[in-house]
Amino acid sequence: MRFDVVVVGGGHNGLVAAAYLARAGRSVLVLERRAGLGGAAVSEQVFPGVDVRLSAYSYLVSLLPDRVVADLDLDVRLADRAVSSATLLGDRAPVVERDPGPVTAQSFRDLTGSDAEWAGWQRFYDRLATLAEDLSPTLVEPLPTTAELERRLRDRQLYRDLLERPLADVVADHLDSDVARGIALTDGLIGTSADVHAADGLAGRCFLYHLVGNGTGLWRVPVGGMGAVSGAMADAARRGGAELRTRATVTAVETRDDGVTVHWTDDDGTTHAVDAGHVVAGCAPAVLDELTGAAPGPGRWAPSSR
Ligand SMILES: Cc1cc2nc3c(=O)[nH]c(=O)nc-3n(C[C@H](O)[C@H](O)[C@H](O)COP(=O)(O)OP(=O)(O)OC[C@H]3O[C@@H](n4cnc5c(N)ncnc54)[C@H](O)[C@@H]3O)c2cc1C
Repeated sequence: MRFDVVVVGGGHNGLVAAAYLARAGRSVLVLERRAGLGGAAVSEQVFPGVDVRLSAYSYLVSLLPDRVVADLDLDVRLADRAVSSATLLGDRAPVVERDPGPVTAQSFRDLTGSDAEWAGWQRFYDRLATLAEDLSPTLVEPLPTTAELERRLRDRQLYRDLLERPLADVVADHLDSDVARGIALTDGLIGTSADVHAADGLAGRCFLYHLVGNGTGLWRVPVGGMGAVSGAMADAARRGGAELRTRATVTAVETRDDGVTVHWTDDDGTTHAVDAGHVVAGCAPAVLDELTGAAPGPGRWAPSSR
């Protein structure tokens, strides 16, 4: 049998791609190596005997565009939080509220003895809010060139600073206290091994991704854990007619001018081959390189380069 598209990996990105393609009338097969779908966005029953499912790995949602939720009619519930961060410092814990206000102002006053840091924080995050509003729509559009993007930005300078200067310096332009700087820098470090003192743009990019979701940078807690979110995506893909197979490990992707042949094995070691017009990589770029036999491209992760 031939499919229009084979998706390698049933994480949330692979599932969303499958759902859109299936709803657009394409025949779609998703091949997922693990026993369950969702990749790092899954829930588990953590406490034996307690019927509650919690996120096992990834646990907060911000970068899921509302438009994807609406387009795919996803049944997900995301709960808000009053506090964005609380930093334990001996007997103190400066708090940054989700919508910074009097409690955050008092925290910075207690920390520094004046209101200057709070003013710096507001100035920085007001600038970032403008940038988030301008950048967020691009997450669901064809990728713009840098020039096209910059034309749309009201605070072009901040965007350039974040990508061209060390993130630590950009933060230091706005904040004086080491603690306040540390709180801000968290968003440039989570999930990466980026260096906030390097001018390679990596920490700045990571920082931006933590602030642009849906134009607000709001991070919410999925009710039922992340598995509820990826489960809703899997349902949307199935509703559209996609076929989702688990315990199916893709071992090679052969490319030809008129499409691809995807080789995979199931749990008992039986090998299969399926033809498709296109393959979508819901796996890491390094995995795709391995599957196609390509040398890792520039800037891509490769075990030998670290
Ligand atoms: C501990 C942890 C906490 C995190 N917390 C957050 C958070 O709170 N919020 C947030 O937004 N992000 C968080 N992240 C990041 C987020 O989880 C990832 O960005 C996201 O899961 C990537 O989704 P994906 O679908 O692209 O890939 P993945 O979730 O990695 O899914 C890829 C899928 O492809 C499958 N696969 C790979 N190779 C093959 C193959 N050869 N054949 C078949 N299948 C294959 C894998 O089994 C996997 O299911 C966290 C990550 C980790 C590890």
